[in-house]
Amino acid sequence: MGNGYIMALDQGTTSSRCILFDEDKKIVWTEQEEFPQHFPKAGWVEHDPMDILHSSLRVMHSGLVRLREFDPDAQVRAIGITNQRETVVVWDRATGKPLAPAIVWQCRRTADAMEALKADPFGEVIRQKTGLIPDAYFSASKLQWLLENVPGLRAQAEEGRVCFGTVDSWLVYNLTKEKTHATDVTNASRTMLFNIHTLSWDDELLAYFNIPKAMLPTVKKSSDLYGTCVVADTSLRGVPICGVAGDQQSALFGQGCLQAGQAKNTYGTGCFLLMNTGDKAVDSQHRLLTTVAARVDDNVQYALEGSVFMGGACVQWLRDALGILKTAAESEGLAESVRDTLGAYLVPAFTGLGAPYWDPYARGALVGMTRGFRKEHLVRATLESIAYQVQDVVTAMEQDLKQAFSDETTSDIPGLPALKVDGGASANRFLMQFQADILGRPVVRPACIETTALGAALLAGLYVGFWDKNAVVSTDPMADTFQPAMEGIRREELLSGWKAAVASVIAGGKR
Ligand code: ADP
Repeated sequence: MGNGYIMALDQGTTSSRCILFDEDKKIVWTEQEEFPQHFPKAGWVEHDPMDILHSSLRVMHSGLVRLREFDPDAQVRAIGITNQRETVVVWDRATGKPLAPAIVWQCRRTADAMEALKADPFGEVIRQKTGLIPDAYFSASKLQWLLENVPGLRAQAEEGRVCFGTVDSWLVYNLTKEKTHATDVTNASRTMLFNIHTLSWDDELLAYFNIPKAMLPTVKKSSDLYGTCVVADTSLRGVPICGVAGDQQSALFGQGCLQAGQAKNTYGTGCFLLMNTGDKAVDSQHRLLTTVAARVDDNVQYALEGSVFMGGACVQWLRDALGILKTAAESEGLAESVRDTLGAYLVPAFTGLGAPYWDPYARGALVGMTRGFRKEHLVRATLESIAYQVQDVVTAMEQDLKQAFSDETTSDIPGLPALKVDGGASANRFLMQFQADILGRPVVRPACIETTALGAALLAGLYVGFWDKNAVVSTDPMADTFQPAMEGIRREELLSGWKAAVASVIAGGKR
């Protein structure tokens, strides 16, 4: 037998990637392909399901070719899939042909209906059952929209001739010999049709959104046999597809956050902070989402999730809209060239504010500028604003945890010992140090920041015995740790200034 590798397919919002890991969890090759985005109307976002599939097949194929050049005896032992969450695909059960464009998680076409639901008492029923705040972001209203607007789709679906799935299901169906129609529990938990306490599709929610049960996929563990690969490349034929998880849960797993209180934050376009809360589904009082963490065995673990809309995207704004940076990486040196922001704050509420404020009407502001304010101060204020937003989510999470565990006999309330980080903007050392200072806790950045793909690879590798659980939690000797170094009094001063700046953008209410 040749050397073994695990293949992760990371199907993201703008690109599909194939990443190959060796036994030491090291990346040996990455292939990436962007695919077209469609914006048929203002606020609408669609993908062609065939673009999702074909770009995935191409990166799998070329990834394998490159692996073979590097190691002629290479053998892929298992395949894991991680994916953009919430995006909806419908296809014909018999022919496998898509019956509509994929409606992407970002698409706002059902926003009005979902806004109305926020004020309806049924909104609270949804929150209790699914852990999600009623919003167009999740799959349910998108699927309902398709059933109501694609001619003939509802009748066909009621006869059991249509499959619905998130992107993982669509890929699993097409990549497996068995044409498996399944999803994993993390992806199911983002549809708003899945009861996260009973771990099953919820009849009351299906009735509310008028979704025929016959079109739903089977829900499986995240580390489980989904089927055997059937794609054209002969050496991949028969390889088990046995790891599936939504991107953020996959990253939580890839960071080894398997215990209550462990958390990771991904600094991508936005920021996604997930904290493992063990076997307890914490009912958030601070408008965070409760979701299911990747599931390996019979134990179910939950997570709290808070998302920030403008993370690394703030740096893109400095570069593309203002033109004061040539590259995102330049922001680090510029921010470090000044001692502080001269008391100014940027509140990057360009598209409203996410967790824990959830104010869609808030707008961006730069407050507290004085005469000496220069572009370096603006760059620093921008990077600091990312860290402040993450700090707000951490505070909300810790308050939720305190309430959730207050009546337990144990004094062992999970808290955040350190924040594990990944994503493009986590490369910024200034941002990571400032984040540690503002959190008052260490920030740990693994050498491999491709934790999303690593999570899917680990889930698949565990299933086939390529790795054991120690491999998941083993600490990375090459990780960078940023220790908090700021004095408490300075930290409080900065945080109170930030709170005042945020208040100034949300106080205006609906415009
Ligand atoms: P996504 O997966 O959401 O596309 P990535 O994880 O690839 O995002 O991260 C890209 C984001 O990170 C961009 O918004 C970019 O501005 C930001 N970014 C990349 N490098 C740096 C850096 N050195 N400093 C600050 N921001 C950065």
